Amino acid sequence: MNKSACVIGWPIKHSRSPMIHGYWLAKHGIDGSYEKRAVHPDDLQNFVKNLANEGFVGCNVTVPHKEHAFQLADDKDASAVAVFAANTLWLDGDLLCAANTDTEGFMAHLTVSAPDWKKRDVPVTILGAGGAARAIVYGFVEAGVGEIRVVNRTRAKAEKLAADFGGLKPDTRIIAGDWDKRQTLSQDAGVVVNTTTIGMNGEGDLGLDPASFNVPAVVADIVYVPLETALLRDAKAAGHETVDGLGMLLHQAVAGFEKWFGVRPEVTQELRDLVVADLEQS
Ligand code: NAP
Repeated sequence: MNKSACVIGWPIKHSRSPMIHGYWLAKHGIDGSYEKRAVHPDDLQNFVKNLANEGFVGCNVTVPHKEHAFQLADDKDASAVAVFAANTLWLDGDLLCAANTDTEGFMAHLTVSAPDWKKRDVPVTILGAGGAARAIVYGFVEAGVGEIRVVNRTRAKAEKLAADFGGLKPDTRIIAGDWDKRQTLSQDAGVVVNTTTIGMNGEGDLGLDPASFNVPAVVADIVYVPLETALLRDAKAAGHETVDGLGMLLHQAVAGFEKWFGVRPEVTQELRDLVVADLEQS
């Protein structure tokens, strides 16, 4: 049976998800399709509640629908509940199920790119406290990290995140930090992750100097346009291990494809090259 899935957002024009899922459909010889659907926020409820009638077995959800889609789902996985947002929906009979695969996407890519990150028995510092930060903090909590520092321009959001996740595991301490302390709170960390929008399209300056870090770190940026952000360039020049944002995008797609099409796909170099070429063209 031909199965179809899609990605919904408003706007949706720039999504790379059709390229990723189209690659896997072809690779596995699956008689299926994956398309973009522009869904206005006012139409979201109607769309997701009628996914089957629209001809879809499921969909990815992107900005600005992630929180609302989470609320609309009948069944939610642990990561979606932790993040209060869903990026992947599928049907189980009549039930609308939701997951947030950003956690899995980030942690899988980190583990592939810097397999020894967890051997460093030192804090993890997260810059930013938005939706992506929530997914990533949850990943580090689940991974059993002892201390996670959340540093955000708007301190109240960092405090909320620390409070929400602070009680999940007795051995994990989460602290909120002031934005103007980001250098101090990063320089003895084993992993430093930029989850802010700073650096996107080469805009803004994170104001962080990896050359002054006291310990070798894994420095990750979830911004993937450009692929090598100023943070990653500076971190690499200073001898730190670096992890780019594109791998998170590719790995977060794996679980959805498996739910909809029944095959767990792989993130290959060939797929990565395909998306990189597309990013370079745009
Ligand atoms: P979001 O919820 O809007 O959060 C944005 C974050 O950036 C907030 O912490 C915000 O701080 C901070 N920020 C924005 N401008 C800033 C500035 N000038 N100075 C300091 N902090 C600033 O966004 P999101 O959904 O978490 O996404 C964040 C980034 O991650 C985006 O670039 C997105 O494209 C990327 N992303 C990548 C992937 C991937 O697969 N690679 C997945 C998800 C997201 P305040 O709280 O103070 O406003």
